Amino acid sequence: MNLFPRPVLDALAADPGRTAFQHGTRAVSADELLGLTGRVERRLREAGLGPGSGVAVAAATSPETYAAHLAAHALGCRVAALRPGWSAAQLAHVLREPVDALIADAATMTPELAGAGARLLSLGPLPGAADLLRPGPAAPPEVLARPDDVARLTFTSGSTGLPKACAQTYRAHSLAYQDWPPVLAELMTRFERCLVHGTLASPVMMTYAGRCLVAGGTVVVPGPGEDLAAALGRHAVTAAMMPPPRLGALLLALGVGGPPGLRALVLGGAPAGPSLLAAAAERLGPVIWQGYGQAEAGVITMLTPADVAAGRLTSVGRPLPGVRLSLRDRDERPVGPGEVGEVWVRSPHRMAGYWRDPEGTREVLRDDGWLRTRDLGRLDGDGMLHLTGRTRDVIIVNAEVCYAGAVEAVLAGHPAVEQAFVVGAPDPVTGEAVHAYVVPAGRARVSRDDLAALVRDALGEAAVPRTVTTLAEAPVNEAGKPDKSRLKPG
Ligand code: AMP
Repeated sequence: MNLFPRPVLDALAADPGRTAFQHGTRAVSADELLGLTGRVERRLREAGLGPGSGVAVAAATSPETYAAHLAAHALGCRVAALRPGWSAAQLAHVLREPVDALIADAATMTPELAGAGARLLSLGPLPGAADLLRPGPAAPPEVLARPDDVARLTFTSGSTGLPKACAQTYRAHSLAYQDWPPVLAELMTRFERCLVHGTLASPVMMTYAGRCLVAGGTVVVPGPGEDLAAALGRHAVTAAMMPPPRLGALLLALGVGGPPGLRALVLGGAPAGPSLLAAAAERLGPVIWQGYGQAEAGVITMLTPADVAAGRLTSVGRPLPGVRLSLRDRDERPVGPGEVGEVWVRSPHRMAGYWRDPEGTREVLRDDGWLRTRDLGRLDGDGMLHLTGRTRDVIIVNAEVCYAGAVEAVLAGHPAVEQAFVVGAPDPVTGEAVHAYVVPAGRARVSRDDLAALVRDALGEAAVPRTVTTLAEAPVNEAGKPDKSRLKPG
């Protein structure tokens, strides 16, 4: 197997003249990106880093930052990309494990990062830091990575607490960039110009950027002040990835029609309701994919445009080749066909474990390689997975367990509802009560009574929302995923 970043470096070397990155108005060729990677690798080596060193990256998305990721991986380092927008507590939690170096830039530097105690390296001039981009002799990048070393620490989105670091080996990490199964190979033919917005700390952005380069495409990064909707048209983007709440906002911003060149839109990271999927397919055409995965397991299933066209709007698709699913009850025994259970996964993409957290790892990963996702779902007769909630997102009403995800799915099944979020709040009579927040589809009006009746029929009285609040848009965290902690029933 070619260890990452070899597949990306080889693809860049094979066609040095093509544009690898379009950053706002600036084009960076494959050859320039290789040169940047070689230069940064040399500087990292001079700083004493090598296979097994820990590097944290907190730099804004740019060709230089991508090159720094490639360089650190070429050296065989363990790379942790920090998310912009983390609270001081989240950052302190993540940086409590010492790293050998921290890569930042003038745009991202904060007192918290400066105070983290790590050796500071920078992309561009920064007081107190060694500049990795300073001119000097550079050699083509060399790949020193070793298969069983940790390649990346991917952080969980932290929607249920502090982010956890999922450690993936070079062997597992490298699979994403080669020997693509047909469903992925077909998708990647559409990645001539792939929009990477937000942070490379997102495994989705980082992985698809690399895959785009392997497939011979150009990674488009919006320039300062360029919003998503404008960037799609201006840069003739053919492929983009985003969580469902961003798609909802994008459809509103685009007005009628859609960007004509868009051939692939990959959704993931949070549930996409059937109304949103249907609206997106109608507006944008047969370009909607949906991936279900998590930092711990990697990609698990994919839903394709053909599935969407066939009306399979409540499913997250079929497992990728090589990924096995098992639905289990609380005692970890398989449930019957078609029954709801916790989703367990066996996959070559999964993490080796949480970084330096054997206890946390034991909670989710068994010796035989099966990993519990803490998501709930069921498999239909066609082998397609339907997610029905998360094991931890429960509201106890009159001692009855209500899964927030199940109520959200019922609400999002109403044609007037584009997205639905459900939270629990203390209640003097029932202990806790269900409260719902909905983003309407287009200008549709939603009636609490209709929604209450729908939930009552599907899930029983306890799950009926005590209040239904209409929102103009979904509350999201820095990863673009729904942030239900912002929803506080009054
Ligand atoms: P993260 O911590 O960012 O890795 O979040 C992973 C979690 O996001 C999964 O365990 C699911 O609960 C949720 N998720 C990811 N993709 C989807 C999807 N396509 N549909 C529903 N939920 C999803």
